[in-house]
Amino acid sequence: MRPVRLRFAPSPTGPLHIGGVRTALYNYLYARKNQGTFILRIEDTDQGRYVKGAESYIIESLEWLGIEFDESPAKGGDFGPYRQSERKALYQEYTDQLIKSGAAYYAFDSSEELEAMRKKFNEQGVHSPKYDANTRMTMRNSLTMTPEEVIDQLEKGDNVVVRLKLDPGQLVAFSDVVRGEVAFNTSELDDKVLLKGDGMPTYHMANVVDDFLMEISHVVRGEEWLSSTAHHVLLYRALGWEDKMPTFAHLPLILNPTGKGKLSKRAGAKFGFPVFPLSWQAETEEDSFEGFREYGFDADATLNFLAFLGWNPGSKQEIFSREELVGAFSLDGIVKSGARFDIDKAKWFNQQYILQSTAKDLLPRVKSLLENKGVEKNDSFLLRFIELMKERVTLIPDFYEVASYFFSAEFDYDEKTIRKKWKGDNIDDIKQLFSLIETIETWNSETLQNTIKGFIQENGLSFGNILPLVRIATSGTMKGPDVFEMMALLDKADMVKRLRESLVKFDAVKEQASQS
Ligand code: GLU
Repeated sequence: MRPVRLRFAPSPTGPLHIGGVRTALYNYLYARKNQGTFILRIEDTDQGRYVKGAESYIIESLEWLGIEFDESPAKGGDFGPYRQSERKALYQEYTDQLIKSGAAYYAFDSSEELEAMRKKFNEQGVHSPKYDANTRMTMRNSLTMTPEEVIDQLEKGDNVVVRLKLDPGQLVAFSDVVRGEVAFNTSELDDKVLLKGDGMPTYHMANVVDDFLMEISHVVRGEEWLSSTAHHVLLYRALGWEDKMPTFAHLPLILNPTGKGKLSKRAGAKFGFPVFPLSWQAETEEDSFEGFREYGFDADATLNFLAFLGWNPGSKQEIFSREELVGAFSLDGIVKSGARFDIDKAKWFNQQYILQSTAKDLLPRVKSLLENKGVEKNDSFLLRFIELMKERVTLIPDFYEVASYFFSAEFDYDEKTIRKKWKGDNIDDIKQLFSLIETIETWNSETLQNTIKGFIQENGLSFGNILPLVRIATSGTMKGPDVFEMMALLDKADMVKRLRESLVKFDAVKEQASQS
């Protein structure tokens, strides 16, 4: 058995889409499961598409999720360099080998000439003509020119590329762990460029050379690369490396929440949720994106959610720790059909993680959230607060968004409930109850509960008429944790002030209601 070595090979052409993170995750899980090696290789040979900051974005995203590499540009390793732009000479060497063996050839066509060729063949009725066995003999390349002309062209150096020469009518078959047997006819494929005018390899050349040299055993990547794989197989053959070809697994597409169409980077803005791991700030609003992290998702919950986006463990279990994911993961569990990106499911995972976490686990994140909002509270307050709110939040920012009344008396009142409850005999009873609360000396949830419930019972009142107003008076909302616990946590002076002020507010709402 050859050693298990997997790589994640992103191109730094922009922020890493959530689909790319899923690819990294599956590679990582498989490598860990099989005591293999996981490698980060930066595929930065397309200099025209290079985006500053993209590489560090990729690294920070994976760090956030705890997807760790054994070999990478930063860590080094025995198979480096791990950035393709630093491996230029290697690709040249293998391209020369292909030229020598006749598997590849030089071509010198300008973009105008390529365009003219397409036009000409189109007019002759050829459907989407490409550079291939049908057309190449009409073009300017080392197959059609004399050796002297070729040398001359190479010296001039204009538009020099190297292309892979495909024999038409051949079947290129390979087996894919997810898709099964896959076959392409070479007549459907073009003579791909391997080396570009700037001496840089294309994705295909660099990818195959590096997978071979880095002894990659499994290539796990997105479905969009499936058709390129035919070219890759041909390259392995042409280079005499066929017995070292990796096992291929092409992951299903990630679909829009509607289930239709591929999830695009713009889907986030359209549907109002993140499709990137971290926020990305670009020059224009349109190219800037919000991230899972900034949106308030937990890294482990995000990991769990992504693991299920195209894979299932074959059991009913959904909540997996990282270790459990490593244990359960297998390429056989990857599904063929597209995986729908369901943000509600992501939120559900996050909620489960919050529920499973202790208040102590959550403390640092809640604390920093609140500090950013200008709220400072001591740890013992926060631990009790988290305990109370844990079951009522989905994302960390909810600890502020739905609970701001814990930190400020400036909140909106649920006027609908006031209109329903603040009428008739209630009013005098409530006023009495509020005064009674002011006399409580031992301010804890037990005394509060005994006093308030005792008052309701002794006066023959109904809980349903009185308690909602106590709740609204102190927090503004009917949606909250146990009201006695909440009041006990906040200090007495604050509560008394809120109770008094609420009476004025209740009257104002009543007044308004009677006028309308
Ligand atoms: N550089 C390619 C990308 O950006 C890698 C594809 C592959 O894994 O072969 O996705």
